[in-house]
Formats: sequence, C-alpha cells, structure tokens
Amino acid sequence: MDTTQRPSNFIRQIIERDLNENRHGGRVVTRFPPEPNGYLHIGHAKSICLNFGIAEDYEGECHLRFDDTNPHKENAEFVAAIQEDVKWLGFDWGGRVYFASDYFDQLYDFAVELIKKEKAFVCDLTAEEIREYRGTLTKPGVNSPYRDRGVEENLDLFRRMRDGEFADGERVLRARIDMASPNMNLRDPTLYRIRHGVIHHQTGEEWCIYPMYDYTHPISDALEGVTHSICTLEFEDHRPLYDWVLDNVSVPCHPQQIEFSRLNLEYTVVSKRKLTQLVEEGRVEGWDDPRMPTLSGLRRRGYTAAAIRDFCERIGVTRSDNIVEMGVLENCIREDLNAHAPRRMAVLHPLKIVIENFPSGAVEEVEALNHPQDAAQGSRKVPFTREIYIERDDFREEAPRKFKRLVSGGEVRLRYAYVIRCHEVVKNNQGEIIELRCTYDPATLGADPEGRKVKGVIHWVSASHGAEAEIRLYDRLFSHPRPDQAGDEADYLALLNPDSLRTLTRCRVEPSLAGAEAGERFQFERVGYFCADPVRASGDTAVFNRIVTLRDTWAKIEKQQP
Ligand code: ATP
Ligand code: MG
Repeated sequence: MDTTQRPSNFIRQIIERDLNENRHGGRVVTRFPPEPNGYLHIGHAKSICLNFGIAEDYEGECHLRFDDTNPHKENAEFVAAIQEDVKWLGFDWGGRVYFASDYFDQLYDFAVELIKKEKAFVCDLTAEEIREYRGTLTKPGVNSPYRDRGVEENLDLFRRMRDGEFADGERVLRARIDMASPNMNLRDPTLYRIRHGVIHHQTGEEWCIYPMYDYTHPISDALEGVTHSICTLEFEDHRPLYDWVLDNVSVPCHPQQIEFSRLNLEYTVVSKRKLTQLVEEGRVEGWDDPRMPTLSGLRRRGYTAAAIRDFCERIGVTRSDNIVEMGVLENCIREDLNAHAPRRMAVLHPLKIVIENFPSGAVEEVEALNHPQDAAQGSRKVPFTREIYIERDDFREEAPRKFKRLVSGGEVRLRYAYVIRCHEVVKNNQGEIIELRCTYDPATLGADPEGRKVKGVIHWVSASHGAEAEIRLYDRLFSHPRPDQAGDEADYLALLNPDSLRTLTRCRVEPSLAGAEAGERFQFERVGYFCADPVRASGDTAVFNRIVTLRDTWAKIEKQQP
C-alpha cells in the first residue's frame, strides 16, 4: 500500500515529537481495540486507518485487540467478522491479535496488588446504592461504608468472588480513589463485577468475575507495550482513571492516551447498538445489507477498500465534533470507479424496439470501448440484433425540443452501433406503449461518422442475446441527515428511508454480464455504478447492486430545501 501520501494531523505531530524526544524508547505501538459485540462500521474504519496507518508510517506495530470483557454481548462470529473486515480494508496486524481475556489472570493479580496497597476494596452496596452514593456533578459523593475494610478481609472476599461464592450484583471490587473528585470517573469506580452463567467465547466458564473496561484497557495497553493509546473523545474524562490505574499497578510501561473526535456520517447511524437493533428487528437484511454503514455492507454494496481509506484520509483527524456529508463518501467511491470500473450497457426499464430493415436471425458484433477515456482498458464485442431494448425513459411520443433522445418520427444514435429512426409506436389495449418499430441506417456504424448529426446517444441491449438481471437500486438508509439527533432516541427508526431499496426485476444486460463474478464492479453507461451481488436471484439470474449514482443527485435536492 502506498503510505507516502498520508496527511499529517495532531496525533502524528505528537508522535513525531515523542520520537524526537525519544519518549517510549523511540518506539511506536498502537492498537485497534474493538469490542466483538457487532460488525465494524465506517466509524471504525477511521480508527483502523489512523492506528494502522501510524504504525506503517513510523515503522511501528499496530495490534488488533478484542476488548472482550462483556461476554453476554459478544461472540465468536463477531470476532471472525472483525478480522475479515480489517484485512479487507488492507491492514495487517502481523500475527499480533490479542484478547483482553488473554490478561484475565494478570488483571486479577493486579487487582490483588491494588487491594494490598489499600487502593481497592470489595463493596457490598447494591448497584442502586452505589449510584446514590456517587453524588452528582454538583454534589460530592459519599464514601461507601465498606471502603475501610481491612486488606485481609478484602483479599478473602475478592478471592471468594472469583470462586463463585456470591451471586451477580452481590459484591463488586472498587478502586479507592476519591468520592469528592469533580471527575465522576474517579469516585471509587467499579473494577470487577460478578457474572454467572455466561460462557465467554474465549475463556468459557473459567471466570465468573469480569473486569471493567476502564480497568482492563490501560493494563492491556501496558502489557502489550502500546505507546500511544488512541481513542475517541468520549474517553477524555476517563483519562485520569486510565493514568491512575497505570500509576498504581506494577505494569512495565505507561502508554499515553490521546483522544480524537469520532466520525459521524449524515443519513446513517454509526452506533453498534443501533445497528444491532436494525439487524435484530429485521429492518435490514443483515449486517452486510448493502444499505448498512458496516464495512461488510459497504463491501457488498460494491465500495472498494481503497475508496474507504481515501475517505478516511480526506475527513482528517481532529478533536472537534463534526458530521461528514454522505456526499464525501460517495465522491470517494465515484472517483475510484470512474477511473477503474469497466463500462457496460444495461437497460433498467426495457422498451422493445424492432428494427424492421435488420434481418431477423442476423447478429452483428459491434465494438464497444470498456472505458472511453482509457484506451488501455480495451474493447469488447456486443451483439446487435433485429430486436433490442432501450430505456422507456429514452423515448417520448411527443417531446420538447431539448429532449435529445428518441421521439416519434425522430432519430437517435444507439451507443457503439447505428442511427435509428422511429416510424411507429405500437400500443396495447390500455394505450401503453409496448413496442417501437424503427429502421436503422447501415451507413452510420461507429462512434461518430462524418456527415451525420443526431442529437442524442442512448444505450441498448439485444433482446435475443442480452441476459435478464435483477437490479437493486439502493439509496440512503435514512431520509433525515441526523437520524440519531432528531427527536427522541427511539424516533430514529421512524426516519428510515422507505425507498432505500427498489428492486427491478427483468432488467436487460449485455450477455457477458450474466456471468459477472460476485463483487465485480461496472459502470452501466448513463445509469450508475453497480456491483454483482454474491447471491443470485431465482433462475440463476445475476443481481446487481447500485453502488452510487453517476452524479450527486442529493446535492441538488438538499439545495432546494430551505
Ligand atoms: P459503538 O458506539 O458503535 O458501539 P464503540 O466505541 O463502542 O462504538 P468499539 O468496538 O469499542 O466500539 O470501538 C473500537 C474502536 O473504534 C475504539 O477505539 C473506538 O473509539 C473506535 N470507534 C468507534 N466508533 C467510532 C467512530 N464513529 N469514529 C471513530 N472511531 C470510532
Ligand atoms: Mg466501546
């Protein structure tokens, strides 16, 4: 991968300064720490590109670490999917894949160390009491009555917690810091809680106590020799606790936590909780539904890893809250596909044309360029026959002068083939147009021969030789730019775009597209960019997902709105 072009940002500046000052022994070690409780989304891509990009550029390492301390929400399917997505995005953890659960023994020992230093205690308050005692932002907390338990008693109770003597919620281990701290995170936070009856995807039934994220994360970082622990801004207030933990247990080093602002993207949601809800309630077809902002959904839709990496670079890394327009992501994939996707012809809403002066049964192979601006992409032969399909929209019985396509009695050029003239419009009993009778001019083959001026060029597919296909027109998942901020929390579901998927069956495509490989991408000329879906429709029909339109049609709509 080309790493020379990555733009600088405030985190890279910190790292360069640290390298110059030889902090952390002149090393750079980062990590990407997903919780395996869902699939990765485009927000995670920002974090992956940042962490792995830094490791690549400063000759460091980036670890993939699963933060698996909530076993009831996590599972092995998510672990596998996350690894697949990181790889697909183009990054390599070089065998350094870890689990926070790898450190459960050490985490337990460090907790014992804290107890011995009188920095942690077993607390018998209920969850609700703990909340009450904690106070508020304006009111200091109150010490737990169990705060001054002796070391021996604490050690005994903590061991018995581990040995399964107590029920869920009966006791917790808490840090002993400061109940009056203005930072709520420092008011004797919980370090361990009891969870019976869950089978952890890595450790099975070995443990019935599980360490909290705020305790686990800094220690995992330190045990792995992480130098810069990069996370999103909501952890800023947790940094004093991150540092407190590392200052009070005997870990080999003290990583530096740095926060940046998370990616928010218009017309979608990037919260695993909400994405889980969409999947579980069947609002979408799964984690890899092409409308989902998950990496697996974007991949199935037809996004390339390069376009997503490009997007992550363009949005940059800062500490200010922001929301990125969907058009930015769409432009990244458009630019990539414009340069690389081969051109093909596909008719979404077919209208039949009979070319009366073309012999029936005859087939003429016309030559079509795979990319009009890039001769290196070569050409292909497309069968031209007596009966063809064009888009319904490309014909009007009567049309204003500026209509540049086919009209009754008028001429139009068929892309890469001939000029045709429409003589007759055939209708059914309901008055609907079912067929056009035309003639072609044999002297007009090719792109633009001399002496022939026709206004428009339209695409077409042979009726006898083309293939049938199903085409799915995907659009934005939500019709509101900020579904998670409009009204009540639950309301975002009401903002789902009812037209986010339109399925067109019996579309017609060039013959070669019948055998398109899953994941192959094309520009259907004049229509948009499409990707062959891995799952074919009934009758072994090829299915194409619309990745993105040729132009940003939403920009226009948005401008019209006041
Ligand atoms: P969610 O809110 O979707 O559940 P999370 O932060 O709980 O996200 P994790 O699996 O813990 O999900 O995230 C792994 C890493 O990805 C963390 O370092 C987190 O900060 C980062 N991350 C998650 N969402 C975003 C986002 N929208 N933008 C940038 N980074 C993100
Ligand atoms: Mg998280």
